[in-house]
Amino acid sequence: MLNQLTISELTSKLAAREASARDAVQACLDRVARVDGDIHAFISHDAPDALAQADAADKLIASGVTHAQKPLLGVPIGIKDVLAVKNHPLNCGSRILGKFVSPYDATAIEKLKDAGAIIFGRLNMDEFAMGSSTENSAFGVTRNPWDTTRIPGGSSGGSAAAVAADEVIATLGTDTGGSIRQPAALCGCVGMKPTYGRISRYGLVAFASSLDQIGPFTKDVRDTATLLNVVSGHDERDSTSVPQPVPDYAKSLRGDIKGLRLGLPKEYMIGGLDSEVKAAIDAAVKQLQSLGASVEEISLPHTDYAAATYYIIAPAEASANLARFDGIRYCARVDGADPIELYSKTRGAGFGPEVKRRIILGTYVLSSGYYDAYYLRAQKVRTLIRQDFLNAFEKVDAIVTPTTPTAAFKIGEKSDDPLQMYLSDVFTISCNLAGICGISVPCGFTTSPKLPIGLQLLGKPFGEEMILKIAHAYEQSTDWHKAKPTITK
Ligand code: GLN
Repeated sequence: MLNQLTISELTSKLAAREASARDAVQACLDRVARVDGDIHAFISHDAPDALAQADAADKLIASGVTHAQKPLLGVPIGIKDVLAVKNHPLNCGSRILGKFVSPYDATAIEKLKDAGAIIFGRLNMDEFAMGSSTENSAFGVTRNPWDTTRIPGGSSGGSAAAVAADEVIATLGTDTGGSIRQPAALCGCVGMKPTYGRISRYGLVAFASSLDQIGPFTKDVRDTATLLNVVSGHDERDSTSVPQPVPDYAKSLRGDIKGLRLGLPKEYMIGGLDSEVKAAIDAAVKQLQSLGASVEEISLPHTDYAAATYYIIAPAEASANLARFDGIRYCARVDGADPIELYSKTRGAGFGPEVKRRIILGTYVLSSGYYDAYYLRAQKVRTLIRQDFLNAFEKVDAIVTPTTPTAAFKIGEKSDDPLQMYLSDVFTISCNLAGICGISVPCGFTTSPKLPIGLQLLGKPFGEEMILKIAHAYEQSTDWHKAKPTITK
């Protein structure tokens, strides 16, 4: 079935005229109709709109436009509900935006459209990307396709679940502290957080602007390279996007990994690491060694401070970014007798509990008297964390870690304990603080129940080619990425 294919498989069928883009979209629509009642990866999708885009793609294919010219021509791609797509709803998993419809495309979306992609639906997420389980969405919980009593990870849970359940070919998500890599690991797909500045954030609703990055979810590493090529690049509308040329990432998938040096940070072998996850990572490391890489223990001495640092900086930035949702400009307004009452009623009714918690935390750490003790100190620790990585990359080509301490947990298991929830990001957060790149690839399963486990590879700033190469070599020597949850059968 076409919805099960990778980008490279589908585009070769489309190019050979063995299938049409309309067939591909119809296959995705059928799959969504069959499984999304159980999974709820999508907040919404618009079948006539997707089919119209498919017909336009089929016309281009018929007129001789090739996939060399438009690498995603006719490929349905799902979009996390935090990226602006012109004339599509934009809610950020929140109630506060009401019936808002975006008047413009994010740069990443514009690039997808230029590459011929079919923009398919709005994917569920934790409200404003704050969370690790997609339980913080105003639109209901997304369920893990491998076990629907469990969470898919978050905040891009819909983006991961939709790929894992073959509801769509690939998706875009965002990663501020792990929101691509963690759900990719828990749902058994590939997810990448590119280097800060690699992809324009224009049209991405900001959570924590110094940490947010857009990135792909795909069924294999080759597709990640394809999607990354399309959405990367400098954009004058985002001053933090870096004017660095975009390499042909597919080229980095060639060759072997003999002689590459991999670092295993000793600080990541913590007490809370599940024994089956640890065993899977140990086996993956052996596999990488058997492919010719050398592995050595390294130290990232400030790792212990990463979660605390992140949970000061991210809420601080969020409290400033979310000030714009005031009921005056573009939200579901709740009227009040005066502006202050209007703001507080609108924000009180519109934001969920986690978003309110972050705004309160963020406002507190920025307040005079506490700014130096919390925010300023966190910024200094952030510099030390980045320096740890830069030092490590003097010695090794990439760093190998588990993506998450455990496999997917039960829905409701951690929702009453924010601290436990925050700790599910211990292995992913440092990468964002350091501004480097990271990828998660499937590397095994727990036994009972059978749940996916992810291997994380971290690379130096703009070192995407290196981690793609290693991830691809590993993937091609294993079958983990080919396993499918029973819901797709
Ligand atoms: N889980 C982390 C948080 O709640 C990271 C979220 C993200 O990467 N968007 O902030």
